[in-house]
Amino acid sequence: MEFGLEEDTHNRLKGMGWHMANKCVLCNGEEETDGHLFMGCPSTLAVWKNVSGERDEVIQLLQDQQDAMVVLKQWPKLQVPGLGSYIWTLLPYVVLWSVWSMRTDVIFQEEGFSVEAATMRVKATLWAWLAMLPESLKERSKHNFINLARNWQAVLEPG
Ligand SMILES: [Zn+2]
Repeated sequence: MEFGLEEDTHNRLKGMGWHMANKCVLCNGEEETDGHLFMGCPSTLAVWKNVSGERDEVIQLLQDQQDAMVVLKQWPKLQVPGLGSYIWTLLPYVVLWSVWSMRTDVIFQEEGFSVEAATMRVKATLWAWLAMLPESLKERSKHNFINLARNWQAVLEPG
């Protein structure tokens, strides 16, 4: 009985075509919990791998964690020179933000999801966010987006 109101609301929203937590729209597979959507989903994981250079410590962190806040707090330190250091620091925030906004697009704009498009979206969002980080502007000015997107892994190589 104590869940009556919630259940009622849930059913009403479902009736309105509102997407409630059920099947993950990125992989059309498992139940969409926060832990699945942001870390465990095979689609999301492929994006994390593409933009982080498949580093073991990142993969391990994502496998161990169900909580996005902990992933942000425990994001591994990486000694990379130049623009790479700013990219690495912002990366988990941008991935989480991008996953959330792509999920929204899939649901409300009925767009399909592709790992390639998602990877490019993370890179483009990161490039835009760097412009809002004054200390990164000098390094950013040495790059252009097309080359950065192409040479992403090289920019994240430890120096
Ligand atoms: Zn999924």
